[in-house]
Amino acid sequence: MNWDKGIFTDSGGFQILSKDFLIQKSDKGVKFKDPYSGNKSLFTPEDSIRVQNDLDSDVAMAFDDVPNYGKSRNDVVDSAKRTFEWARRCKTAHQNEKQLLFGIAQGGTFSDLREKSAEQINSLDFDGYALGGLCIGEPKEKMYPAIESQIKIFDIEKPKYLMGVGSPVDILKSIQMGVDCFDSIFPTQSARRGSLFSPNGTIKIESGKYREDNSPIIEGCKCYTCRNFTKAYVHHQLFVHETFGLKLASIHNIHFVQDVMNEARKRIKEGTFDKFVVEFEKNYSAKNS
Ligand SMILES: [Zn+2]
Repeated sequence: MNWDKGIFTDSGGFQILSKDFLIQKSDKGVKFKDPYSGNKSLFTPEDSIRVQNDLDSDVAMAFDDVPNYGKSRNDVVDSAKRTFEWARRCKTAHQNEKQLLFGIAQGGTFSDLREKSAEQINSLDFDGYALGGLCIGEPKEKMYPAIESQIKIFDIEKPKYLMGVGSPVDILKSIQMGVDCFDSIFPTQSARRGSLFSPNGTIKIESGKYREDNSPIIEGCKCYTCRNFTKAYVHHQLFVHETFGLKLASIHNIHFVQDVMNEARKRIKEGTFDKFVVEFEKNYSAKNS
């Protein structure tokens, strides 16, 4: 892959949530169904490290046991315990000095379990720490306290990675809490559904009112889509289910999130980040067109 910037690989733990793959999990590892051959295989923390080592990513993730949202406290306790044991095994198996290894903490939406899991994962001295198992169906009122209870425990000098969160407002609020990196399908998934990000909220581009709108999605946006195409063009592409439209919409949303992150970095340096978050949220939530 001709990409000269950082590459993260995930451990495969998130796929435990998928009923299509998972057959059974135990302390040893996860028994899963190969989606191509249908064969059953055992996938262990050591396998996860080996595969990520072969892929030669810059940041590898420890294999974790992600509990579905809504699981009982006991189930979440078991998952966090297993996540700790697997993290230990990943740490031992990981021998690639050119690759960073991040540990992932779990704990569902139980603040005390989140804290305990963060303490356990933090004790293993990883290169960075991730908050896993969030944004999987829980309400925002439970997500934010879960982030807060964990982030304060991780080593302040090391990068903190919030997995699966990608809406512009959530990103900014999480940065306020101390998160450094993110990954999410949200920008591209929203794009494919015709929701385009703008400073004034999302634009539902499939609406008939954009049929003859010859302005770009955002005036002044430097993305490939806005520099070359109008709202009417993107509207038409999505309206007739042209895959090119999905690409144009995705390019714009990813670019928008990168712009937000660049602005966040700038405002942190200037010391005006909190003000920026308030302004951004106010404008972004003001209307949904
Ligand atoms: Zn754009």
